[in-house]
Amino acid sequence: MKELFKSLLFRTSESTVIRECRRCGTEVSASDTRCPQCEADTISEYKIK
Ligand SMILES: [Zn+2]
Repeated sequence: MKELFKSLLFRTSESTVIRECRRCGTEVSASDTRCPQCEADTISEYKIK
């Protein structure tokens, strides 16, 4: 699951948005508004080019 996500990231060469929990660092999907691990709603977004 996670490996598939990574390979998709590298294929889309434009800007890719990584969403990550600010509290525990867990990667969350675009549809998640809070962290599945610690339930914090402080999700930060990073753009990778
Ligand atoms: Zn978290």
